[in-house]
Amino acid sequence: MDLASLTLTELQGRFRSGAASPTEAVRAVLDSIANKDAAIGGYLSHDAETALREAAQADVSLPLGGIPIAIKDLINVKGQPCSCASKILHGKYTAPYDATVIQRLRAAGAIPLGRTNMDEFAMGSSTENSGLQITRNPHDPSRIPGGSSGGSAAVVAANEAIAALGTDTGGSIRQPASHCGCVGLKPTYGRVSRFGLVAFASSLDQIGPMTKSCEDAARILGVIAGRDSNDSTSLDLPVPDYTATLNDGVKGLRIGLPKEYFIDGIDPAVRDRINAAVETLAAQGAEIREVSLPNTKYAVATYYIIATAEASANLARFDGVRYGHRSTVADTLLSQYTRSREEGFGDEVKRRILLGTYVLSAGYHDAYYVRAQKIRTLVRDDFTRAFAEVDVIASPTSPTAAFRIGENSDDPLHMYLADIFTIAANLSGIPGLSVPCGTVPSDKGTALPVGLQLLGKPMDEATLLRAGNSYEIAGRG
Ligand code: GLN
Repeated sequence: MDLASLTLTELQGRFRSGAASPTEAVRAVLDSIANKDAAIGGYLSHDAETALREAAQADVSLPLGGIPIAIKDLINVKGQPCSCASKILHGKYTAPYDATVIQRLRAAGAIPLGRTNMDEFAMGSSTENSGLQITRNPHDPSRIPGGSSGGSAAVVAANEAIAALGTDTGGSIRQPASHCGCVGLKPTYGRVSRFGLVAFASSLDQIGPMTKSCEDAARILGVIAGRDSNDSTSLDLPVPDYTATLNDGVKGLRIGLPKEYFIDGIDPAVRDRINAAVETLAAQGAEIREVSLPNTKYAVATYYIIATAEASANLARFDGVRYGHRSTVADTLLSQYTRSREEGFGDEVKRRILLGTYVLSAGYHDAYYVRAQKIRTLVRDDFTRAFAEVDVIASPTSPTAAFRIGENSDDPLHMYLADIFTIAANLSGIPGLSVPCGTVPSDKGTALPVGLQLLGKPMDEATLLRAGNSYEIAGRG
């Protein structure tokens, strides 16, 4: 039995029965990294020695005792590098403290063993914008793993980690989970502390689990969620035991299908998988209804104003003075700022900073930024209306399965539009879950995973996880 291929829940069962030890599990994961990661490129770095030392001391009675977890490279883990997959930080920044999610994972006994690749500063949908390396989809190495948490998704799918943390600003947990065939949960905005997360767009960013099952996601969310005095946007609401209701089934659960989501642009094979998944949930007793989200069509445009505006402000700190890359050819203070940024940031990051600076500039602020905030309210109102009639909304996570490496690189707009199903949840702050729902064949005959997205009411992650778990169990037959 390869311990690295087990779910978190299965592994925990073995630890507690004495059938396996955390040291054996960490060794299995390290072997898997040694055997596979040269081809996949999911990790930027990992610390075998520390992981083994922590495994030897792990207390398996804790909620995540002895479980090795991979961490997206924009969440601070004390003593480990944190580069955001950017040349501006790579080799120049070691985290001096643990993010709140890491403190909580550690307190629960987990072992944060490595740093996963991502699109630079989480800007992208394919991990091709990483300033450091390419990550390949474990199901088909000619294809992207999704993004921006592509490294986290790939290492979970390739059994190079038992679970991972990702972040989701416009879909970056759910979309790579969908493309790599794992579970990805973006919690409600404010459910999980962002303290120690390098900010991309602060009103949209959330940290969440990427796992091999909904039950695993429930366990991790239960550990990382909750109020944190270091993040004033974290909500002071009790954290339920997300595993307690997992097996309650979907009988009577009202699932809405947004009529606007099933028209153009979806690959018909993907649509068939989603329809089949919805039928499975209906066969388990869910009631399927049509809902309307008429303003979703504005979500991508709105997002690219708000997210770039916030990013342009957040990334101002990378100036070559406080930390990170400093140009050696500059001769004035101003040229030191501009050259350090010119040399350190990749093209997509520069594109976003320019866009964001433009939409905030005098004369354009009202026409773009203020207007986008108003449309954001309309997008959220759509969900409020729909959730008066249904408990959960189902859709594809992504309109297509994973595309080929390089296929969309020259066409940023095309790449942006593929986030149509995930972005509205971030604008609205609601939780979203992507659950594997089968595969579609590629032109070369490889099987490419498809993800079913379930969106829920604010703070109702428990219902999403219950529905996802119910679907998973039906799939296991
Ligand atoms: N693909 C989106 C973007 O490029 C979302 C990224 C994310 O969620 N971090 O902005």
